[in-house]
Amino acid sequence: MRLVLVGPPGSGKGTQAEWLCERFGLTSIGTGKLLREAIRNGSPAVEGYREPYARGVLAPDGMVNELVAEFFHTARPEKFLVDGYPRTYSQAIAFDALLRQEYLKLDAVFHLALPNAEVVRRVSGRRVCGNGGCAAIYHLTAKPPAAAGVCDQCGGELLQRNDDTDSGIRQRLSEYHANAGPLLDHYRQAGLLREVAAVLQPEEVREIILRHLTQ
Ligand code: AMP
Repeated sequence: MRLVLVGPPGSGKGTQAEWLCERFGLTSIGTGKLLREAIRNGSPAVEGYREPYARGVLAPDGMVNELVAEFFHTARPEKFLVDGYPRTYSQAIAFDALLRQEYLKLDAVFHLALPNAEVVRRVSGRRVCGNGGCAAIYHLTAKPPAAAGVCDQCGGELLQRNDDTDSGIRQRLSEYHANAGPLLDHYRQAGLLREVAAVLQPEEVREIILRHLTQ
């Protein structure tokens, strides 16, 4: 099974990715996570992107395409779920070429659609475990940890991502909407696009996705 999740920030891509990867034994590929790790490690592959990342500016297509290609060439995943990539039409074309090279075909692209006001509400309350190996996701009201500021899973400190500020969210939303149309059209034309209302509870969203996958 080979899946892609597309959706605005806060649409639950990370949560759904975690569930689906566990359920179907898929390798998880998240470009946001790959970028954060590369920035944290001071990797030359993301040189100059630390400050634009914090402002919510998309990474250049070439940079992300290379990180993804590098991941595929090293990990050689057979069954995978990609979350947050492709984010632009040009990334989708590069990903198509990479998959052709690897003799791999996608099964479905899920579009987790969410209205802007809900994006802002969700993202401003999001907290993530600062322990890189854990990176569990919480929400101040919708999914609070048992003890304020502490990860239930590993005891790590919960932090607000540095791009989850008001201006960071607005910037990411406007970039998302500028790119989503052509990207979704590309996968619609390929017959791969499945629309899902991400405003539902995460468990309901999961059920809808599972229904699509078992149809
Ligand atoms: P995410 O964890 O998916 O919310 O990604 C965090 C940030 O990383 C995004 O707001 C973008 O600035 C950057 N990013 C992640 N994936 C991509 C991508 N495919 N193309 C460009 N920038 C990306």
